[in-house]
Amino acid sequence: MDPAGESTLSTRVQQRLQSRTCGWCGSLIPYSGRGRPPTYCSKAHRNRAWEVRTAEARLQRDIATAAATAEPVREVITETVTHTQTRVQTRLDRRPPATARGWVEHLNELTRQLDDDQLGREHWNHARLYRALADAVNALDRAHPGGLDRLLGR
Ligand SMILES: [Zn+2]
Repeated sequence: MDPAGESTLSTRVQQRLQSRTCGWCGSLIPYSGRGRPPTYCSKAHRNRAWEVRTAEARLQRDIATAAATAEPVREVITETVTHTQTRVQTRLDRRPPATARGWVEHLNELTRQLDDDQLGREHWNHARLYRALADAVNALDRAHPGGLDRLLGR
């Protein structure tokens, strides 16, 4: 007897996981159907993925507490440039002459400055210059055998 002549069409759909790709390397991991499906193909890939996740979490936490920055690395560079100037001084500028010829040149320069330059107009310095020149003349008198009288044929 077919009650009310009804027929029943039933469809049963069953899904079963066959495989999944590794969360690290992407290689296919077959699933046996027993236990929790694996996320990684190996323990090594599980560990690497964990290291990346926790490192990212540490970075975000350090940025949040200002212990780390997301800014690019900046450098301050100091440049030191050394210019060397070599100045050559004449012998007259560096030290007093040690020869008669050198002193004659020096004294000629003094004469020229007294005649032509500011030194000749600085009358307040003239007494001092005169004493120094007189000391030099007296030293020449003492130094020369017979003194200045003999030197000048007097
Ligand atoms: Zn893998």
